[in-house]
Amino acid sequence: MAHEILETFKDINEEFIAKEKILTKLDNKIGDGDHGSNMKRGFEHVIKELIYEDENDLKNNFEIVGKTLMSKVGGASGPLYGMAFINGATHLQGQVWNYKNLKKFINEGAKAITILGRANVGDKTMYDIWKHLGDDLNKNIKPEELLKNIIKCRDSTKNAIALKGRASYLKKRSSGTIDPGCFSSEIIFRHLIGGLK
Ligand code: ADP
Ligand code: MG
Repeated sequence: MAHEILETFKDINEEFIAKEKILTKLDNKIGDGDHGSNMKRGFEHVIKELIYEDENDLKNNFEIVGKTLMSKVGGASGPLYGMAFINGATHLQGQVWNYKNLKKFINEGAKAITILGRANVGDKTMYDIWKHLGDDLNKNIKPEELLKNIIKCRDSTKNAIALKGRASYLKKRSSGTIDPGCFSSEIIFRHLIGGLK
């Protein structure tokens, strides 16, 4: 039986099924339109893998999420999410899902994203929201505030010009659309925050 976090990943999966079209629309505007189906496919596989997992250790389960996203999501975001979860799991062995461990997870995950994707804050990529949440967690901001701030951060990418990834090919025309990777990250974060003990 997988960790109790399985319920949280089931909720994430449900939301990616419900939001597939919105994500596809965003990625159609500034990318190639695959982000909705990529995320839906990835989390469907995550649930299948976690359901049949005997080990209920948090590190092990997050590594399974990472490896699954890495191999099933595809695009640029597959390896980025994959490495974020695998690296984010580093300090989670034997741990419960609480604020302290969310902080470790997000900070280590953000590091992996910037090492792999070489994006800086403001480049209009998922790194913006991972770094923002990591900084908020380091300041011990309350969960209700974290939830408001990730939405603000996601929406603030709308007017930015992409400097990394496929959207950067559009230069100034990438402005006017929320970054799809920030949109999908906000979904994941909201459920991870909601599932805290
Ligand atoms: P692709 O662009 O290959 O089709 P996806 O559509 O699955 O990949 O994912 C696009 C998202 O990936 C972007 O919205 C952005 O958040 C993220 N992304 C792309 N390149 C980078 C990068 N170099 N660093 C961080 N995130 C990136
Ligand atoms: Mg795409």
